[in-house]
Amino acid sequence: MSNVFEEQVLDVRHWTDTLFSFSTTRDPGCRFKSGQFVMLGLPAEGLPGEGRPLMRAYSIASPHYADVLDFFSIKVPNGPLTSKLQTIRPGDRIIVGRKATGTLVIDNLKSGATLYLLATGTGLAPFLSTIRDPETYERFDKVVLVHGVRTIAELAYRELIETELPNDEFLGELITEKLTYYPTVTREEFRNRGRITHLITSGKLFDDIGLPALDPGRDRVMMCGSPALLADMTPILEQAGFAEGNTGEPGDYVVEKAFAER
Ligand SMILES: Cc1cc2nc3c(=O)[nH]c(=O)nc-3n(C[C@H](O)[C@H](O)[C@H](O)COP(=O)(O)OP(=O)(O)OC[C@H]3O[C@@H](n4cnc5c(N)ncnc54)[C@H](O)[C@@H]3O)c2cc1C
Repeated sequence: MSNVFEEQVLDVRHWTDTLFSFSTTRDPGCRFKSGQFVMLGLPAEGLPGEGRPLMRAYSIASPHYADVLDFFSIKVPNGPLTSKLQTIRPGDRIIVGRKATGTLVIDNLKSGATLYLLATGTGLAPFLSTIRDPETYERFDKVVLVHGVRTIAELAYRELIETELPNDEFLGELITEKLTYYPTVTREEFRNRGRITHLITSGKLFDDIGLPALDPGRDRVMMCGSPALLADMTPILEQAGFAEGNTGEPGDYVVEKAFAER
């Protein structure tokens, strides 16, 4: 049995010069938990050179019960995969690894009252799955999704989160009652401004959303973002007494890089 699925691109949306998203068919054998990632690539003949397809890690942005797969992608100038991937169109083929994995699953967290989902850039992708999973709302009384970007146009999926999900036939009530969405922008005027770390250390985030400052006795945190976000946030959480969780050892927070520096 091959270790990849071959899926077909159904839909592509370009958000900005640097961000796009796409959905694909989903093989019935493709199983994953909200927050996990898979390896993704283009068939080998679609890339320069021959041989094995180039695969990169991609968080699955769709909920685990959806019959399609959604992905939210960067466009890296001259990036080996994304310079090609950004040209895909409906009907094109995509290779998706069979094995989904990753630490951003709620099983890796101890129970708590409020779940903070902290994302920068494409780090939003895994949480688009988490916020559409009813189990997230069974486990937590409140879910706070913070998305940090440079420009307003980079606030991808804002309409989905602010308008579509609260009106969703099945999830609408849960989302309206429990989900707080806090988009923040660093390089333009917007209702929320500044870096996530600063919003947390200054207390502004908590003032704005009407919740107390982070407390390991009550709060749980998932982070997915730039190496800078993770490097800055980890000591803040550790100093506040949060313990990192892992598969098999649930903790107070879990972390995943939104991308690796090469
Ligand atoms: C666990 C994990 C999950 C990931 N999930 C996603 C995802 O859901 N969506 C996604 O677009 N990427 C994701 N990535 C990054 C992805 O694997 C690739 O790096 C990305 O698709 C670019 O591929 P490339 O071959 O064009 O360039 P690469 O050679 O992979 O990257 C070149 C450089 O571009 C920058 N870069 C790469 N990816 C990003 C990014 N997402 N945001 C900002 N800068 C970046 C980095 O500086 C990197 O060194 C994930 C990475 C990891 C480790």
